[in-house]
Amino acid sequence: MRLSRYLLPILRETPSEAQIVSHQLMLRAGMIRQNAAGIYSWLPLGFRVLHKIETIVREEMDRAGAQEILMPTVQPAELWRESGRYDAYGPEMLRIRDRHDREMLYGPTNEDMITDLFRRSVRSYKALPLWLYHIQWKFRDEVRPRFGVMRGREFLMKDAYSFDVDFESAKRSYDAMFIAYLRTYQRMGLTAIPMRGETGPIGGDMSHEFQVLAQTGESGVFYDRAFEDIDFSDPAIDPEELKRLYAATEDIHDPATCPVPEDRLRQGRGIEVGQIFYFGTKYSKAMNASVLGPDGAEVLVEMGSYGIGVSRLTGALIEVFHDERGIVWPESVAPFKVALINLRPADDACVAMADDLYAKLRDAGVEVLLADTDDSPGSKFAAMDLIGLPWQVVVGPRGVKAGTVELRSRKGDVREELSPESALARLTA
Ligand code: ATP
Ligand code: MG
Repeated sequence: MRLSRYLLPILRETPSEAQIVSHQLMLRAGMIRQNAAGIYSWLPLGFRVLHKIETIVREEMDRAGAQEILMPTVQPAELWRESGRYDAYGPEMLRIRDRHDREMLYGPTNEDMITDLFRRSVRSYKALPLWLYHIQWKFRDEVRPRFGVMRGREFLMKDAYSFDVDFESAKRSYDAMFIAYLRTYQRMGLTAIPMRGETGPIGGDMSHEFQVLAQTGESGVFYDRAFEDIDFSDPAIDPEELKRLYAATEDIHDPATCPVPEDRLRQGRGIEVGQIFYFGTKYSKAMNASVLGPDGAEVLVEMGSYGIGVSRLTGALIEVFHDERGIVWPESVAPFKVALINLRPADDACVAMADDLYAKLRDAGVEVLLADTDDSPGSKFAAMDLIGLPWQVVVGPRGVKAGTVELRSRKGDVREELSPESALARLTA
């Protein structure tokens, strides 16, 4: 993509309405624009990141064995009456009437709807375990939408649902999702701490909240250092062992009784980026979702639900990955891998070298943004540092004469002059 053609409305000033750094940077970097309180449009740069996050979430769900579906955003109130939570949900639910005066709502979550889908589609225990998920916009009329996409009213969530014939099997489903979540966050470069939910209906270890560590997190957390070192993609990993590792919120943590030795205890602040939950037959009972069991008798299905805040993750990632100049994307979620910076777009030799590299990078499948605008080198560097692409390749008149470009990592650990061919080799390796 050529920057001269790209919708990237960068702001020089920090918008006063944004209180936390991720919200400030998302606005300044032209990733999002607010349309109403807690409701945002995603501009090209922001949308690319959202898509990258979504792709990692999807790949890990698919790898675990879940099947992707798509349920609507607008739901009939009837299903929520049947499950018994239409009135209980309260003012967070956006309630709508259609032209025939039928009560509808913009879905805040989908347990009711998927239970209905299940009972109309599955008859036998032989189809179980069954894991379904979708990635869909939700609406919750939050009292205080704030921090940009971190607490929006309309937000993108991945929600998965498991169906099993008995508790043992439901527990295996839960554990598979537990591991899939840790893998998902790790692929984004994040350390996510699974915190036991306190209100699991059967035992405390069947609900977990995943907290990403960031200085600006909403809640204080204490955890075993092991979470920072484990490779969650290791197939030999045991979920039970992970669940036994220490993790506690600041209001529960008590130094006097904490089982972790001091040198292994870590303290941080967490942003909730996901929650998983086993709830047994709560919905299947209310909505009569059963299958024929092995002995021919009807059994209510055991269910669990598993949410990831896809749009919130965009903000959470920036909270973790930024410096005083802007965003510093990890490669796995970066909107483009490379910023190719032409310092002199009026100079034919610079243009020739930049265009040649641009074509070669694209041919090699590397996502590249060519900074070909005619503003000053200083403002170009500032803009590219702000949007935080992992690599910068600088083409300038001095280098063109010497037959070199400068390769820089946004993190700051690489800065060297090399031939365009070597730069290309490095970026396509
Ligand atoms: P919170 O406690 O932050 O309000 P929640 O527990 O109500 O979240 P869940 O129902 O568990 O949220 O939803 C799953 C995930 O969706 C959350 O872990 C979070 O990452 C994300 N999420 C929830 N509410 C919002 C929101 N208003 N804006 C953006 N993301 C959200
Ligand atoms: Mg939650």
